[in-house]
Amino acid sequence: MSSLNDYIKFVLDIEDNNIIFKDYFYKIPEAGSKYKVYEAELIQPACPFCGSVDIIHNGHLKTNIRYITANASTPVVIRLFKQRVKCRDCSKRSMAQSSLVNKYCSISNTSKLKILSALTEDRSMTSIAREHNTSVNTVQRVLASCSHRFIDGYDYLPEHLAFDEFKGVDRKLHFICLNGETHEVIQILRNRFKKNLLKYFGRFTLKARANVKTVTMDLNFYYQDIVRACFPNAQIIIDRFHMVQMLTRSLNSLRVATMKKFDKGTREYSLLKSPWKLYLKKFDDLEKIHPRYNWHYKDSLTQEQIVMEGIGCNDVLDNSYNLLQDFFTALDKHDTKSMKEIIYSKERVGALMHKTLLTFRHNLKAVLNGASLSYSNGCLEGFNRKIKQIERTAYGYSNFINLLTRIRLEENKIKEKGSSNLLIA
Ligand SMILES: [Zn+2]
Repeated sequence: MSSLNDYIKFVLDIEDNNIIFKDYFYKIPEAGSKYKVYEAELIQPACPFCGSVDIIHNGHLKTNIRYITANASTPVVIRLFKQRVKCRDCSKRSMAQSSLVNKYCSISNTSKLKILSALTEDRSMTSIAREHNTSVNTVQRVLASCSHRFIDGYDYLPEHLAFDEFKGVDRKLHFICLNGETHEVIQILRNRFKKNLLKYFGRFTLKARANVKTVTMDLNFYYQDIVRACFPNAQIIIDRFHMVQMLTRSLNSLRVATMKKFDKGTREYSLLKSPWKLYLKKFDDLEKIHPRYNWHYKDSLTQEQIVMEGIGCNDVLDNSYNLLQDFFTALDKHDTKSMKEIIYSKERVGALMHKTLLTFRHNLKAVLNGASLSYSNGCLEGFNRKIKQIERTAYGYSNFINLLTRIRLEENKIKEKGSSNLLIA
């Protein structure tokens, strides 16, 4: 059997038996580009209230439904005539409905699903709207029909959490909490004020909060207060990357200060200036055999020779450099004993590094946890980069909820508020 109806249904991938296609043509409006029209009737075979087939036909409602198309330059419209009927048995009136399109809606559900799947990719909403011949508002409505919640319910929390913040809407800092093991997002909050965090985590049951064993964070004092207030069994871990970052930053400022004591153009100045990256590398990673000529200091030196001669310019710099290298080693070996010795070191180091070490002493337990346990906020770094990419593609978000939903969709966790919700939107 092959009729026009069957053929159009085959081409458009429509399976509803109540839709009967009758005609197709191009429509060229006076303004705007031409589009394809498929004409169809949506029949109502029985009364939806009592199931009776004894019905009186009472005209049609003409609707134009936007459908998906392979060629975005010629949009496809299904002109659907929905039957209106009156039941002879229960005398109720009804109109034919189909899963092709929602009541009161002129965009087909197929289009909405396609928009939803496009939203999971790194694309701007304008580009998605253009491809599907809809307005940006429609794309935003489809986005809004998805849940922005990352987890449902307040009776479970994973054992390992990671806290951080990222810059988002209006350049404000948002709080983000990840599962330390699976790297899934637990929650993103609009701001990182202490009272909001306390309020949010306070909603979880005591059992859920007692389940948390470790929380990884940077040296932000009130995050620690939150952990102490909310998670009775949790250990605080200072992120190892953050510790290294604080120390390398202080070594770097000391290097610059030392460099400025020498005149420009001197050998010491050049040795401390251009190869600055080498001072922050692990000593074992430096090139020790093959010298290379450098026109800055007009000599052939290996990387090791550069660093040794550079730090030799100043005792304090020498001490600070060795302290950082010892710190790297202790961190690699998870050696808390030598870590403690380094932190309580009596050597003369730069002022900034001294301050950093004081901070470490103040949070000694959490810092040592960072060395002995392998949890870190490295996962958050990757995640923050992804968020930046999402924001860059959209030229920034002004709506925090939309940003959240988009992050969640691109995380590939399509979970609608309720499965029928998209069909109502
Ligand atoms: Zn009826």
